[in-house]
Amino acid sequence: MAQLILDNISKQFDTTDRAAVSGVSLTVREGGFLALLGPSGCGKTTVLRMIAGFEQPSDGAILLGEKCLADGRAMVPPEHRNMAMVFQSYALWPHMSVAENVGYPLKVRGLSGQARDAKVREALASVRLEKFADRRPADLSGGQRQRVALARCLVTDPDVVLLDEPLANLDRHLRQEMEETFREFHSRSGATMIYVTHDQAEAMALATDVAVMSEGRLLQVATPEEIYARPQGRLVGELIGQGAILSLPLIGEGLRLLDWPAMRALLEDRRPSTQIDILVRPQDVELAEGGVPATVTSVLFEGERYAVRLSLLDGQTLRAFAREAVRVGEKLHVVIRSAWRL
Ligand code: ADP
Ligand code: MG
Repeated sequence: MAQLILDNISKQFDTTDRAAVSGVSLTVREGGFLALLGPSGCGKTTVLRMIAGFEQPSDGAILLGEKCLADGRAMVPPEHRNMAMVFQSYALWPHMSVAENVGYPLKVRGLSGQARDAKVREALASVRLEKFADRRPADLSGGQRQRVALARCLVTDPDVVLLDEPLANLDRHLRQEMEETFREFHSRSGATMIYVTHDQAEAMALATDVAVMSEGRLLQVATPEEIYARPQGRLVGELIGQGAILSLPLIGEGLRLLDWPAMRALLEDRRPSTQIDILVRPQDVELAEGGVPATVTSVLFEGERYAVRLSLLDGQTLRAFAREAVRVGEKLHVVIRSAWRL
């Protein structure tokens, strides 16, 4: 095993004008768990397919440790990369039992008998499906089928596991359960994992690192905590976590929404501008006398609190949490205690 390096890779399909992937550079450390996050059509699957070897990059190189897997001239075929890919549709063979499905990649590689049985048992145990070895896929739930697909990909001890929106077909309850299965699997197997998703909450919950893509480009790679606290640019700010983005003029009354420490922190950033874009998380907005006026435009009861949307005098939207019920149309005062300049 070794770290996986994408060195400035691009993909231009012959049939389209715009490149599907443009100049993506990224290192996934050995044993790392990277989520590749971005809206539909931004190029996530294409990146994964280039890593797996199903597509050749038009430009750039892919390396696993010292070994070059693909560059402008040569390409190692998928079957020689020791990687495994799990898809959204589980692609299990319906006429085979669970054990036969999981053992199939070993059969293809010429492994048989007890050695194969032992590996299949181990793989099934790692996804807690030992008791289901003789069932057919049709007799399993969606979550169990996804676990069979995962076991089948583990059975060959891949260096890198590639997962393309594996939970997209499951309901919310099952997704949460499967997220735990993935985390557990990652820490047990030590495999390097790349997990494609358009769901930011899933990316943040699962991965040790999150890479955000938009329109074929990589916008930011960081830990979930870092990307939440310090998103680089408006697109990442909009995508990650809850929050509101405000444009404030630096002259006149623009910064009156912020309390003094928050304003000072923002002004320490000396990028010259007459107007700044800031990201404000709802937990940093206080409903307080002495703040600026705002009108409640929506209220959502979340059990332990109310999630409130507010409209400022200039029409911009802010989000806040309230401990007690507020009414739509009610006029309040708000103060921002902390904000992040985009
Ligand atoms: P994502 O997985 O993030 O939804 P994809 O990687 O599937 O995005 O697609 C990125 C862009 O590349 C899209 O505009 C898509 O239509 C295009 N694309 C993907 N595969 C092909 C292909 N084989 N031929 C032409 N265009 C493609
Ligand atoms: Mg995709």
